[in-house]
Amino acid sequence: MSEEVIKCSICLAPVHEHSHNGEVYWSGGHNAQPINAGRCCDSCNNNIVLVQRFCNVGRVPMDSQLPTGKELTKYAQRLRVRHDESGDLR
Ligand SMILES: [Zn+2]
Repeated sequence: MSEEVIKCSICLAPVHEHSHNGEVYWSGGHNAQPINAGRCCDSCNNNIVLVQRFCNVGRVPMDSQLPTGKELTKYAQRLRVRHDESGDLR
């Protein structure tokens, strides 16, 4: 096992570690498909990857589609800040 920090491929911040009683049991991030082929943090997974998956199956109206490229990174970073401030990590 390596101590390498995995960075989110969408917002570029380190992915969240999930721990229980102080022991990290999961730090690998989520699969960022279909946004890209890398890994992503909790925030991007919930707010971007899952939304994109719904878009791909036509369950989200076109006007709520996600930004792309650099705009997507900025958008992801704003969501990430909000996600971390909400403190839903245990
Ligand atoms: Zn992220």
